[in-house]
Amino acid sequence: MNCLICGAQAQRMKTEEDCVELQCPQCGHYRVTGDLFAHMKPRGQSFDIVKAREWLAAKRTGAEKAPMIGCPDSGLIGS
Ligand SMILES: [Zn+2]
Repeated sequence: MNCLICGAQAQRMKTEEDCVELQCPQCGHYRVTGDLFAHMKPRGQSFDIVKAREWLAAKRTGAEKAPMIGCPDSGLIGS
């Protein structure tokens, strides 16, 4: 499926959790909660590239390799 940040062709990973896990060649490995994805999909929304990539970079400084973007982070959604 297409990356929810930049729109590039991204690989959707299999996961048991209620989330969408994507590996994008541009944005890297990240996850979006099922709730947030369900909110964005019918609206055709995607994340703001600059904000989302900065957010992911900040999260990746820890042990988390695939940060989870959820509803509290909805400010990352572009207009
Ligand atoms: Zn991407």
